Amino acid sequence: MLSPTSGPSPLAPDWLSLPVDPNALRAQEWAHDVVRHPAGELAIDGLSVQQLAEEFGSPLFVLSEADFRRRAREFRNAFDEAFAELGGGVDVYYAGKSFLCTEVARWVMDEGLRLDTCSGGELLVAQRAGVPGVKLGLHGNNKSDAEIRRALDLGVGRIVADSLPEIQRIESIAAASGRIAKVMLRLTPGVHAHTHEFIATAHEDQKFGLSLAGSDGPSPAEQAVLAATAAEHIELLGIHCHIGSQIFESEGFAVAAQRLLGFSAKMKSRHGVELGELDLGGGYGIAYTEADNPRPTAEIAREMAAVVAEECTRLALPAPRISIEPGRAIVGPSTFTLYRVGTVKTVVVDGAAGPAERRYLSVDGGMSDNPRPVLYDADYSAVLANRASSAAPVLSRVVGKHCESGDIVVRDAYLPGDVRAGDLLAVPATGAYCWVLASNYNYLPRPAVVAVRDGAARVIVRAETEEDLLSRDPGA
Ligand SMILES: *Cc1c(COP(=O)(O)O)cnc(C)c1O
Repeated sequence: MLSPTSGPSPLAPDWLSLPVDPNALRAQEWAHDVVRHPAGELAIDGLSVQQLAEEFGSPLFVLSEADFRRRAREFRNAFDEAFAELGGGVDVYYAGKSFLCTEVARWVMDEGLRLDTCSGGELLVAQRAGVPGVKLGLHGNNKSDAEIRRALDLGVGRIVADSLPEIQRIESIAAASGRIAKVMLRLTPGVHAHTHEFIATAHEDQKFGLSLAGSDGPSPAEQAVLAATAAEHIELLGIHCHIGSQIFESEGFAVAAQRLLGFSAKMKSRHGVELGELDLGGGYGIAYTEADNPRPTAEIAREMAAVVAEECTRLALPAPRISIEPGRAIVGPSTFTLYRVGTVKTVVVDGAAGPAERRYLSVDGGMSDNPRPVLYDADYSAVLANRASSAAPVLSRVVGKHCESGDIVVRDAYLPGDVRAGDLLAVPATGAYCWVLASNYNYLPRPAVVAVRDGAARVIVRAETEEDLLSRDPGA
């Protein structure tokens, strides 16, 4: 058998550096209460990962409640402070689609946030968690009548309307139940941001929202304002946009805010309509690997507030009530996934610089508990979790157990050369868009989520059993 070659690998991507100490944790990828014990093992709030894996099995999502709450509070405080001078007030909506269960919905309420949902199922979670309707938002480009009705019955704080036909449907459903629907309009400002770049265009080619651009006559956005203000059972609160995800800079938000406020000013002068609320969506970036360097939330908030203040002054608009919708940036770094290593093999790859070795570490989950690498080419990092190692790091790829060669969890990481079957690996920043996107591919049961608080772990979503997998098959 080949023994892995240590040192920098020609197969490594440019952004990946050979770690001085592969046992070290890069703080920004981890919940603040995860540490490596002097004895070598990873622990969260005093609980060792071996204990967790033994008690709850693997793969396992391990969520730090304190970390989640801290990030939620940080968003609320940073935006409250940044926008305090404007005076319009701020609401922070946690984007439930990033990760949601009743327990998390309660933390969101405790911390003074609101909760965004985008389906009947997410509304039901919120309802069972006891979230007051006024604290809820409902999104979606294709809401069913039943979802709109459920939202109105719950008394949601707002429905974010996505199209002209939907405004008519909301009006007739609200009329039939004798209610007034509070509505925001989702507009597409022609700004698309992803990580370090954003593009600004006039026209939109996507399924969401009402365009600000009109070729002949009023734009879809303007028509929607007129339709919503004319509707007797709709109270039009304001306008909304969401420009992308995993964004690190504030320019994209700034351009979107400028365009939306410009639209507000136009609606005021043309139609005398005051759009009192401005929602700038979510998308705040987090660190998945050493290549990501998110800026402090407070800085981004201050930059956004400066742009809104300047535009409001320039356009002689009263300060709107602001809302934002972070998901990933609150729950993403709060969670890591624990996997157990099985098969280990080393392959020789013919690279540009001649043959080089890559180590494959197969774990007991994969694309069924984290499809983001497969779906979005997302990169993650990993560390050896049950012990420290003094073995030299080798270029490794963490792969799952599914019947697909693309089933990759961590494409490139330097891990100690002695990682072996039975070891535990921890992959940080898996709180957002992993569990919620999990599947039962190859009839794998979906993992549990445990929350850790005050040195104790408890299940907040139990693991599926094999019986669960068969429960919908009437012949089983
Ligand atoms: C997905 C989504 C969010 C949350 O995005 P994050 O990248 O998780 O912050 C917020 N608002 C809307 C409308 C979304 O679709």
